[in-house]
Amino acid sequence: MALIKCEDCGKEVSDKAQQCPNCGAPIASLKKDVMIRFPIWKGQMMNNKCYVYDKKTGEEIASGKQGETVVFDCSEPRDIYVVVKGSFGKPEAKVNPGDRYDVGYRGFGKIYLSKVDTIAGTANSDGLDVSVGVFKGF
Ligand SMILES: [Zn+2]
Repeated sequence: MALIKCEDCGKEVSDKAQQCPNCGAPIASLKKDVMIRFPIWKGQMMNNKCYVYDKKTGEEIASGKQGETVVFDCSEPRDIYVVVKGSFGKPEAKVNPGDRYDVGYRGFGKIYLSKVDTIAGTANSDGLDVSVGVFKGF
C-alpha cells in the first residue's frame, strides 16, 4: 500500500482509499501520476542510477537510485522504457495514469517491468525487494 498526499489537506492517505479520512476529498482524482520502483539486487547494496525515458521523444522523465520509487505526472497513456545502470535490458511499457510498476531482476542482472496494484513498503533487512513476486500480467 502506497501513501500519497491528499491534495486538499496535505495529510498522507492510502492510494487505495476512496476518500481522504481527514477531510473527505476524493482520492481517485489524485491518480494522475505513475509510480515506478527501481530494484535492489538481493544481498548487494548498489546505488546505481535508474532512469525512466519517454520512448517516443527519448526525454528523461524521472530518475532515482536503486530501491527508490519515482513518481511522475501522467495525464494520458505514454510509452516509456526503464534503464538501470549496471543492469541489462530496457524494458518497455505503455503506462496509464494511476499505474504502479515494479522493476525486478530476471536471471543475472537482467531487468523487467511488472505492473502491480500497489508499491509495497520498503525492502527487507536483506536488501531484498519484498514487492517482487506480486507482479502480474505481461
Ligand atoms: Zn485530505
